[in-house]
Amino acid sequence: TALGITPAEEKIYVSVRLRPLNEKEIARNDVSDWECINGDTIIYRNTLYVSEPSVYPNTYTFDRVFGYGSSTRQVYEDGAKEVVLSVVSGINANVFAYGQTSSGKTYTMSGVTEYAIADIYNYIEQHKEREFILKFSAMEIYNECVRDLLSDDFTPLRLLDDPEKGTLIEKLTEEPLKDWNHFQELLSVCEAQRQIGETALNETSSRSHKILRLIIESSPPELSGKNNSSMLAATVNFVDLAGSEWASQSLSAGTSKGRTGHIPFTDSKLTPILQSLLGGNARTSIICTMSPARSHVEQSRNTLLFASCAK
Ligand code: ADP
Ligand code: MG
Repeated sequence: TALGITPAEEKIYVSVRLRPLNEKEIARNDVSDWECINGDTIIYRNTLYVSEPSVYPNTYTFDRVFGYGSSTRQVYEDGAKEVVLSVVSGINANVFAYGQTSSGKTYTMSGVTEYAIADIYNYIEQHKEREFILKFSAMEIYNECVRDLLSDDFTPLRLLDDPEKGTLIEKLTEEPLKDWNHFQELLSVCEAQRQIGETALNETSSRSHKILRLIIESSPPELSGKNNSSMLAATVNFVDLAGSEWASQSLSAGTSKGRTGHIPFTDSKLTPILQSLLGGNARTSIICTMSPARSHVEQSRNTLLFASCAK
């Protein structure tokens, strides 16, 4: 490819991150029965709670498993960096966080997004032979409505079907990104808008999907602004999905083998948006976050089943 990054063969990179028990869980004497080994395997160790093996295996192997002690930096480096950096060579990229509410999706995604944008800026800094233009968008999908998190207008955005580009979101703000500080400012705007929406529209944030999007265009400086074949453009999406307890339960039956990249939310607005991300020329990383608590075992198993099907 143009900038020397070879896309990996597998299009979807699947990892699992187990968070530590939190104070509340420890206070109620909750415990963890999960053990992570070899950097890619997670095992259920409670022999008193053996489930039907054909439905719920006790051992799962993924591209990567991040245990209790892992840092978000590690999750980014090993689970998302390569996928994210493909955007600078014109390949679309997506990073999803999937998991039940309180499993660590937002904690993980916000860190991953910051490391990713810092890395993209580092890359730009080291590649002065090209001129880069970055544009930032942010949206929330809640209850069949797509809302622009960079606008104080709550009117839901319309989806348009473009024969070439797939599903487009009409009037979504694309804010030219000046630098790292500007990115931080925009993040605060998004968070404020999200909270206002939550209050004004009586939303429950665990039910909404949040997407931060960066469009990266680059060209040799002398061609800047002209429509030339050496111009590259790609999009990276950071998707913090709704709590997986709101996902359709079809996966728990264990019958969805082979549905690569299927995201089991029934929201009809989300599906075309995500489908257009997953189809065609895109590299995708799905980070499945998991609570270690015994009291969450059913949801954790569903998450692992989803992760197994996502490959
Ligand atoms: P979700 O977005 O899936 O609902 P959050 O990201 O909000 O979950 O995480 C729930 C709580 O657990 C937060 O207080 C968060 O700071 C904490 N947390 C999540 N993951 C980790 C982790 N890997 N290490 C330490 N604390 C974590
Ligand atoms: Mg969250």
